[in-house]
Amino acid sequence: MSLSISDQEQLLTGWGRTCPSLARVQACTSIEQVQHEVARAGARGVLARGLGRSYGDAAQSGGGTVLDLQAFNDISYDSITGAVTAGAGASLDSVMKAIVPAGAFVPVTPGTRMVTIGGAIGSDIHGKNHHVDGTFGAHVQSLTLVDGSGEIHELTPSGDKAPQFWATIGGMGLTGVITQATFDAIPVTSSLISVDTQRANDLDEVMSVMAAGDEKYRYTVAWIDTVSQSARGVITSGDHAPIDQLSAKQRTHALVFEPKAIATAPPIFPSGLLNKLTVRAFNEAWFRKAPKSASGDLQSISAFFHPLDGVQDWNRIYGPRGFLQYQFVVPDSASHLIRAALEKLRQVGAPSFLTVLKRFGAANPAPLSFPTQGWTLAADVPAGIEGLGQALDDLDELISEAGGRLYLAKDSRQSPQMFARTYPRLSEWQQVRDGLDPRGVFTSDLARRLSI
Ligand SMILES: Cc1cc2nc3c(=O)[nH]c(=O)nc-3n(C[C@H](O)[C@H](O)[C@H](O)COP(=O)(O)OP(=O)(O)OC[C@H]3O[C@@H](n4cnc5c(N)ncnc54)[C@H](O)[C@@H]3O)c2cc1C
Repeated sequence: MSLSISDQEQLLTGWGRTCPSLARVQACTSIEQVQHEVARAGARGVLARGLGRSYGDAAQSGGGTVLDLQAFNDISYDSITGAVTAGAGASLDSVMKAIVPAGAFVPVTPGTRMVTIGGAIGSDIHGKNHHVDGTFGAHVQSLTLVDGSGEIHELTPSGDKAPQFWATIGGMGLTGVITQATFDAIPVTSSLISVDTQRANDLDEVMSVMAAGDEKYRYTVAWIDTVSQSARGVITSGDHAPIDQLSAKQRTHALVFEPKAIATAPPIFPSGLLNKLTVRAFNEAWFRKAPKSASGDLQSISAFFHPLDGVQDWNRIYGPRGFLQYQFVVPDSASHLIRAALEKLRQVGAPSFLTVLKRFGAANPAPLSFPTQGWTLAADVPAGIEGLGQALDDLDELISEAGGRLYLAKDSRQSPQMFARTYPRLSEWQQVRDGLDPRGVFTSDLARRLSI
């Protein structure tokens, strides 16, 4: 993910390990140091980076300065108001370790805990509960931002500075450097999740089970077997288990949260290890492992939300060429595009063992926030497969025509035209951004690629 060339020069990539670029990486330990770096920004600008879990080129800036804010890691939890205040460099992992034993949980978690508060806000992340709770940004009460003139702002979702607040939610680090945020936590009485599982034999069944469960479950996701022609899947849905669902023994440690890594992927993996045969075998085993139907299973937070965090550096299994994640959202009226996308990926022979389908609820007021009402599909595919680029370009067209869009935190390849067409509030966002950053200090490889 990052390779040190000299003390400060590092080759940075996203989680997909494609498109590396060299930047001066500066660790910052104080807000004054952030202001100093913003003031001395060169022609290639400045960008804050979290844990580099965005897949593409959002958290890197070739020839520029990349700020590492991991020292901004204070966390406090107010059990009366239920609010968490955390430094932008604190990870969701450390937030959970701090608040779960106190009976609270983060409002939104992605498929990994290894993301920072700055990254969660910058990408306006969503979880399996978007249809109920919306994005992470919708739960932020206030945030501290250093803008392009070095000025410090306290931004809140309503009031005078609401436009600057919402431009920063999902603003991909391009409105300034977030140093701290206060957000709502949700109360829990146990650290276990009560999970219902259902296998579905084809995509229609997957989608109808999910649509029917919209009201019933806080968290829902479907894993799709992209190798099977029917696009069968496994739907898992759940909610925080109330303490009275736990056995007497479980109640003695009801709020324990001690996730462990079970393995580390070796540094070198041959390209091509993930091929149609290995993915077919994996998918068959994964489908069969799931119960046909089960309800009320108690699972840990990490097993339910973050199974991949158990294998450190699992992104290496794609070998030196890396991989990309294609994630899009389409409105309910274009739900047929889910099948079209799966078929396209299968035709081109893009093996994926990690393809998930989720429901999204209504959008929030942030102009660049990705989620809008409908269906979202995310598929990890190895980079460099013949025909993949054209297949994805074709899909982009269909998605754009249907009123859908791609997720910037996963993107490494869409065109500036596709982006501008599918984020219709871009110019409104740009106006606010220009006010916060009149010198154009904040930029990234993604911003240059998409002419943001
Ligand atoms: C296994 C896996 C599963 C995932 N699942 C999901 C999912 O379910 N839902 C989802 O929404 N996402 C998901 N993601 C993507 C991930 O949540 C986002 O990319 C997130 O932004 C990564 O956080 P980070 O701290 O690593 O930020 P980075 O990737 O380092 O940065 C992301 C963006 O935030 C900006 N940023 C970071 N810190 C700051 C700051 N202090 N101030 C201003 N801007 C800042 C960066 O400039 C960049 O544009 C997943 C990623 C992985 C690897």
